[in-house]
Amino acid sequence: MRVLAVDDNRDDLEQIQRCLIEENDIDLMLCDRPDQALTAITKGDIDCLLLDIYMPAMDGLEMIQQVRALQGDSWLPTIFMSGVLDAKARGRSLRAGGDALLTKPIEREILIPQLFAMNRLVHAQRELKAAKERLEILAREDCLTGILNRRGIDQELNQAISLSWRFNTPMSLLLIDVDRFRAYNDLHGHPAGDQALQKIGAALSNCLQRQSDVLGRFGGEEFILGLPATDQAGANAVADRVLHTFEQLDLRTASNPQGHVTASVGVSTLIPTGGSMQVQGRALELMQVADQAMYEAKGAGGNTRRSATCSEMNA
Ligand SMILES: [Mg+2]
Repeated sequence: MRVLAVDDNRDDLEQIQRCLIEENDIDLMLCDRPDQALTAITKGDIDCLLLDIYMPAMDGLEMIQQVRALQGDSWLPTIFMSGVLDAKARGRSLRAGGDALLTKPIEREILIPQLFAMNRLVHAQRELKAAKERLEILAREDCLTGILNRRGIDQELNQAISLSWRFNTPMSLLLIDVDRFRAYNDLHGHPAGDQALQKIGAALSNCLQRQSDVLGRFGGEEFILGLPATDQAGANAVADRVLHTFEQLDLRTASNPQGHVTASVGVSTLIPTGGSMQVQGRALELMQVADQAMYEAKGAGGNTRRSATCSEMNA
């Protein structure tokens, strides 16, 4: 546990140091200047703050407000220290943002348990934060294939479209629909169908060439591949690679005239024109245009791609 003690009085700091000298679990830093303490806190590796209320340069109540503004979504537990205070002043210090208050001279019998009590809060807060992060990942993940789900795709595509607009670069989208998948399920059973989707998800992941590419399962046997900073020619090349990936995947089946699982790919490309962005509308249009192109590919017998440009973008 890393504790930062801030007090303008060196004797008081040394008293704290004496209290904690035998505590191997507590790593103590001393500071007699609030401005330097704020710099140390900004670095972010402090678990608990011991803060003197009365300091000439910046008092503890003022400093805690700056700390709270700095800390973002984490909470730095703070114990105020002062001489004897009346109830009103004690209340004021806690309202200002302190979590506890110790009376000087600080004694180790109360300081150490108080620090460990704060440490329990720090741990609980970290666990909560980690759980929240895990949930956020899960909420965006397709549980069958492990790639993005519909929700994740929407978030990433919106972000990619905003960037495309800002940097005035084209953005493309591939809608990849597995051909005759219902027939595959009917012939091989749904568990085999799920396995095929998992293999397809993994193969498409390996197909990605850039960190910024966005791959997700749109639902059923439909996959989406968002390609930031990619024009139609570039997107067509990726679509060809996707078709080749299905060939290499070699999921043998009598349900497809090709003898293996194939896909139809619809390619849409959005070209920013500098007009109003309307991210949601653009995303929908990219999707609709790709969907139409994909149905044209289906109409041509599948195992092929068709491309279109979002016309409204040029308006
Ligand atoms: Mg003081």
